[in-house]
Amino acid sequence: MPTSTHSSSLRHLPSVEKAVQALGPMPGIPRPLVVALVREEVERMRAAVLSGEAGIGSSGEVLEAIGGKLERFRLSRLTPVINGTGVLIHTNLGRSPLGESTGAVLSRLATSYSNLEIDLISGERGPRAGFLERALAELCRTEAATAVNNCAAALVLILKCLANGERNEVVISRGELVEIGGGFRVPEILEASGAKLREVGATNKTHVDDYAKAIGPRTGMILKVHRSNFYMEGFVDSPETEELAALARRHGLPIVEDLGSGAVMRTDQLAPIEHEPTPWEILAKGVDLVCFSGDKLLGGPQAGVIAGREELVRRVKREPFFRAVRCDKLILTVLQETVAGYLEHGAPGGTVEGPLPDVPVLEMLRTPLDALRRRAEGIVARLPAEPGRAECTIGEGTARCGGGTMPKSSIPSITIDVALPAGAVEGFARSLRLGSPPVVGYVADDRFRIDLRTVFPRQDDALVARLAEAIAAVD
Ligand SMILES: *Cc1c(COP(=O)(O)O)cnc(C)c1O
Repeated sequence: MPTSTHSSSLRHLPSVEKAVQALGPMPGIPRPLVVALVREEVERMRAAVLSGEAGIGSSGEVLEAIGGKLERFRLSRLTPVINGTGVLIHTNLGRSPLGESTGAVLSRLATSYSNLEIDLISGERGPRAGFLERALAELCRTEAATAVNNCAAALVLILKCLANGERNEVVISRGELVEIGGGFRVPEILEASGAKLREVGATNKTHVDDYAKAIGPRTGMILKVHRSNFYMEGFVDSPETEELAALARRHGLPIVEDLGSGAVMRTDQLAPIEHEPTPWEILAKGVDLVCFSGDKLLGGPQAGVIAGREELVRRVKREPFFRAVRCDKLILTVLQETVAGYLEHGAPGGTVEGPLPDVPVLEMLRTPLDALRRRAEGIVARLPAEPGRAECTIGEGTARCGGGTMPKSSIPSITIDVALPAGAVEGFARSLRLGSPPVVGYVADDRFRIDLRTVFPRQDDALVARLAEAIAAVD
């Protein structure tokens, strides 16, 4: 039985219908969702009161709490964000953005029927992704290629295909049993595929002999995983890929490398960073198949590219699991345009003279510091001068590739720095995240900072407006 305090509390609890009405229209949340969320919140409050866990405020406070919950929900709807973090491939901000021309093709294709699986010459059913696969193979300078939903799926698919039944063992170095982000670990992926791990070597050192000793009648393949998201220094050693490939050939085994980031341009020429191995460099060392992500340094859609020897690619595509992880037409379109862009505009050998393909992360990597500084000057000049309240200056920062790629890379960059009164910086960052478009920056040395390398120049006006708004709200 509710006590009298409970019943007086419960009197403040509005009916779902009344609450929905009192809250008014909620742009961005379809009405059935508003009703469901309000019902859930009213029920939760009622249960809390009845169990004696919590009291309840006035009707106004109740509505405010419900409104807050709806607002949090509204903010989870996917929407464009200004990335001022300086992290180019930011996993939480959607990894690589697409170029505008690629986006335009996507929008045209998405709103129409397409020749996805029809041979326009015969009018009969045709192969899916034929153009893309040929173009991908050309880009990777190899015999054949295909694509699935992401690189993790590509890896599982390859393992299911090449390491199963009597020969389900995969030989891999202990130094490469890495976690690739999102809590996904290579050993777990291996097991999910039904393959059995044969770990060799030590974390820091693995020799070709370690691999040789582990190879037996149950071995299905040799796997190398590019250490894309971390690096080891000091007393470390691993065999040359050529040696491992020769070993695999002697035993008639396939050797596969998971490359992760999928750089096809000379990263060291785009920015003062290391050289990230390209698919053809690895394949030229004798590796049979490589896989890599579509939305890391390649700058396309989320996808997992598989490239290498034709016979193996054909086998991978015949694997029943392929059907479960194949790309839909939207992804195929975006990947096709990205790859075609590289073939049309990327210089041979992945060098970076001349125009770049329409891939924003490449342009962001290549933008010189003076260009960023000029933009910063323009932005700061347009911001209100608020001495003692919010002082905007131009700073020097460090941008990164991110997304689990090139952990050593630090790219000199230019920032807009906002110095705020003591204790105000977190609130300022929050208010920038909550407006439209949301702006995400970072806090360092007690200043709020926006790294301009990851802000598109076309977003500068919106950035100025949002900063001015947040500055005006500082008290
Ligand atoms: C990022 C990464 C993956 C996972 O790629 P997804 O496309 O996110 O599935 C796999 N392997 C390596 C080495 C990676 O860096």
